[in-house]
Amino acid sequence: MAELSVRSVLVTGANRGIGLGFVQHFLRMPKPPQWIFAGCRDPKGQRAKELQNLASKHPNIIIIPLEVSDPASIKAAAAKVGEHLGGSGLNLLINNAAILKVRTLDAETLEDMSEVYTTNTIGPLLMAQAFLPLLKKAAQGSPSSGLSCSKAAIVNISSNGGSISSLYAWEIIQSTSYRCSKAALNMLSKCQSLAYKEHGILCVALHPGWVQTDMGNSPGQVPPTTVDESVQGMLKVLSTLSEKETGAFLDWEGKVIPW
Ligand code: NDP
Repeated sequence: MAELSVRSVLVTGANRGIGLGFVQHFLRMPKPPQWIFAGCRDPKGQRAKELQNLASKHPNIIIIPLEVSDPASIKAAAAKVGEHLGGSGLNLLINNAAILKVRTLDAETLEDMSEVYTTNTIGPLLMAQAFLPLLKKAAQGSPSSGLSCSKAAIVNISSNGGSISSLYAWEIIQSTSYRCSKAALNMLSKCQSLAYKEHGILCVALHPGWVQTDMGNSPGQVPPTTVDESVQGMLKVLSTLSEKETGAFLDWEGKVIPW
């Protein structure tokens, strides 16, 4: 199995939970990326302390102010990342940031439906649009012919909660706004895979498992999977992907999830 080996990666929502886990695991790789861009909406805030600490010890971590529901913030982040990269491209974009509103169907509101869709679905769309030139550049600069996450890829962190055929854990948590946003994110991933294949960019929707984070804990039960297990599993899955899997919806163990 080929190792995942990237020169540059950007992770959104990198200050806690699974996003921070990605940053930590990239650092621990035998050949860590030269640039780990850690998107964070409040880099100086209390919730970014652990990330700031890590960045102070590892010069390859660059904290990028990034609010994924704000097109101006995304544009500024893309410009900043481009400056750091000089002439080279971005290999891997991990759209990880998301929100969950725990509500019953009866209690869903226009505001929550909009906010969740804007963050979880429109955010990844705008991120991919803004970073496309850098992803294309990475693909063009790669000597390999097929698609791979080491070359150029968009990884949308989705959820089996967005699977229409499984409707995972409906009895525990309804959160219709979240489910709709992730079902739409899956469709977005498929569309991106079709549009970006010709540019040499792999696109995938990835379910991280039910993971011990603030979001994972919110239904009030202890999730079975740790951040470390989830991220390690996802990185292993990413290392195996090729053009066969672009546009797929997979879980952290590499299993195909029904749409
Ligand atoms: P957390 O709630 O622990 O962390 C969410 C991260 O996203 C935080 O860094 C948060 O930043 C950031 N974020 C939220 N909104 C925005 C925004 N508008 N702009 C920028 N950053 C934002 O979630 P997890 O780590 O558990 O989840 C990560 C991903 O995994 C999500 O896509 C989630 O849907 C998915 N997932 C998680 C599961 C689980 O069991 N944990 C299960 C299935 C899917 P801040 O600190 O500023 O709020």
